Amino acid sequence: MQKYICIVCGYEYDPEAGDPDSGIEPGTPFEEIPQDWVCPVCGATKDQFEKIES
Ligand SMILES: [Zn+2]
Repeated sequence: MQKYICIVCGYEYDPEAGDPDSGIEPGTPFEEIPQDWVCPVCGATKDQFEKIES
């Protein structure tokens, strides 16, 4: 699945891991994360994430 990176702090969102601390189940694609989710490291909003091109 497509990973995304926070352009503010470099945190990588891995859909296979999700973000359980914020209620995001493992296996959740970035597109399906609620719009009010923020980066668990720096608090950046979703629009401050970019696709990681591989
Ligand atoms: Zn961040």
